[in-house]
Amino acid sequence: MRELSPSECRQCGTCCQKSSPTLHPTDADLFFTGVLSLADVYTLRKGEFVFDNISGSVARLEEEHIKIGERPGTRICRYLGADGSTCRIYDSRPAQCRTLECWNPDPLVALYDSSKLERQALIRDKSIKELVLHHEERTSFARLAEGIQALASGGPEEPILDILNFDLYIRDFVMERSLLEPDVLPFHFGRPMIQCLSGFGYRLEGDRGRGYVLVSETGNRPSRPDPGRV
Ligand code: SF4
Repeated sequence: MRELSPSECRQCGTCCQKSSPTLHPTDADLFFTGVLSLADVYTLRKGEFVFDNISGSVARLEEEHIKIGERPGTRICRYLGADGSTCRIYDSRPAQCRTLECWNPDPLVALYDSSKLERQALIRDKSIKELVLHHEERTSFARLAEGIQALASGGPEEPILDILNFDLYIRDFVMERSLLEPDVLPFHFGRPMIQCLSGFGYRLEGDRGRGYVLVSETGNRPSRPDPGRV
């Protein structure tokens, strides 16, 4: 049997267990040829706090990323087979998977720095494209960051609650109108913004029926006594 050199992929599956790939424009064909579906991926939106595998630190995203989903509660790519080492779409795997050399990070770093696949390239329905754009504009993480900065300086919490409300509303709206299935919402609208608050130092307490209170992670409740509702 031929000995593998240290510069060959051993298909051990270790990289696939640490993270799923972010997609690049050349990966769009995987959707058009049916290898991937929109239910297989999710969006990390511009301005969101994420753990960056390349730098090994938490940072705000400078552009949106579309990633293949992970197994629930793990970072394991959903396409890694049950044996822990076999890719179930190996012959059609995304660009990052083809590029990654665990013995030499340079090619992946170069690819990672290049442009990423964006949602608008994959959405064909004009009205859904517009809904996604509208959601992005009304609930951008830049707006959320501004609202949180103002709140920390004694400003109102309404602008933040308006953003969180609209993020929830649009998900309900598209499902009630049967415009989108629940499994493609993480692609179209990213993670629910309530889940992203902790990156900004806040969390919500309460529930949707009674309303939520916006609470600083340092334990300081906002000065307004009236709980905001989302
Ligand atoms: S798509 Fe395949 S090669 Fe790429 S991370 Fe997932 S399992 Fe690994």
